[in-house]
Amino acid sequence: MNVLVINAGSSSLKYQLLNSKTQDVLAKGLCERIGIDGHIKHSPTGKPYYEAFTNMPTHAEAIQAALELLVDPEYGVISSISEIGAVGHRVLHGGEKFTAPSLVTNEVMEAIHDCIHLGPLHNPNNIIGILACQQVMPDVPMVAVFDTAFHQTMPPRAYTYALPYKFYEEDRVRRYGFHGSSYIYVSQRAAAMLGRENDPNLKLICCHLGNGSSIAAVQGGKSVDTSMGLTPLEGLPMGTRSGSIDPGIMEYLMYRRNLDIHEILDIMNKESGVLGISGVSSDFRDLEEAADQGNERARLAIECFAYSVKKYIGSFAASMGGVDAVVLTGGIGENSTAVRKAALSGLEFLGVKLDAEKLNTRGKELDISAPDATVKTLIVPTNEELVIAIATTKIVEEMQGKQA
Ligand code: AMP
Repeated sequence: MNVLVINAGSSSLKYQLLNSKTQDVLAKGLCERIGIDGHIKHSPTGKPYYEAFTNMPTHAEAIQAALELLVDPEYGVISSISEIGAVGHRVLHGGEKFTAPSLVTNEVMEAIHDCIHLGPLHNPNNIIGILACQQVMPDVPMVAVFDTAFHQTMPPRAYTYALPYKFYEEDRVRRYGFHGSSYIYVSQRAAAMLGRENDPNLKLICCHLGNGSSIAAVQGGKSVDTSMGLTPLEGLPMGTRSGSIDPGIMEYLMYRRNLDIHEILDIMNKESGVLGISGVSSDFRDLEEAADQGNERARLAIECFAYSVKKYIGSFAASMGGVDAVVLTGGIGENSTAVRKAALSGLEFLGVKLDAEKLNTRGKELDISAPDATVKTLIVPTNEELVIAIATTKIVEEMQGKQA
């Protein structure tokens, strides 16, 4: 089945058309500046790349532009929209309601709506993305795949915050965790690489290190702990997000700098992380270049990030009572030798030992451990779209099977 995977942001929309059976990517693209002017970048497999400014007042025009390109005689990869069997939507927050992907119905839309207070920055855009697709493709089944669902297996001791319990009972304040589709993909690939598929005792620490970064402890294929929390702001320092800080800093800065809570959170989301520390960039390529040229704050930013990764690896190894492999993914995990080195050196006591040459590998699946390492280190480039496409196909085929 051909599945269109949609990831809708506030002014952008990423799409990818995949064949979920062959796992071939037919085309992928990005619509940007929605509601401003509109810019589309379209990469069809085996056909020329296309890029243009196109008027996109809303997400519906962006979807329409993507669909037109997918069937275009020159840049298209299918001859008719009817060749799209289903649409899979990445949805950020499913709260406690969603432990698995769900067919989009009126009730599911309402439930996603009910989770807006938990994911105010993302869920409204995800809803807009679904509505825009329904408007343009009213007869195509849609599936919502939640970033949080994978982590619903965490035990209460891992997801409970030490706040008055009524905040959990009445306001659903708890750790949820994110990057679920990425963790599903990399944990399954890692289990296959280790020859331990479906082993309930396999203990993995999966590090999704990208613009947004998180780490998950995955035991027997299930999430048992993760670094992100109620929102994607907790945990590691990220490109522009602070990660965990002393909550008292917020009040301290509010008074000292005469800022309100919204301004503080904006700073913590958009001006902090490695950008905040370095003053150089949120991009690790820029940071590594600046550090190589002697920029001390760029070096400090990389060190703080890597140190935080190391601390989580240590604590999740303790949570699970051991670890079989550390799995690296995301743009940084898949590519950055400097971060790998800084984060994993000093973990020899745990059994982590890297092969000096393989350490430099970029963007491909590889065991980079030294032969005598007792804990493996694996690079696994993630593929969230494939996980969404496979989940979508399964649900739609089940539904069609029931209808038949
Ligand atoms: P993602 O959000 O997973 O796409 O990851 C994006 C991040 O990966 C960027 O901010 C870069 O910092 C990092 N990245 C990508 N390629 C490299 C590279 N060759 N070396 C270091 N960092 C990289």
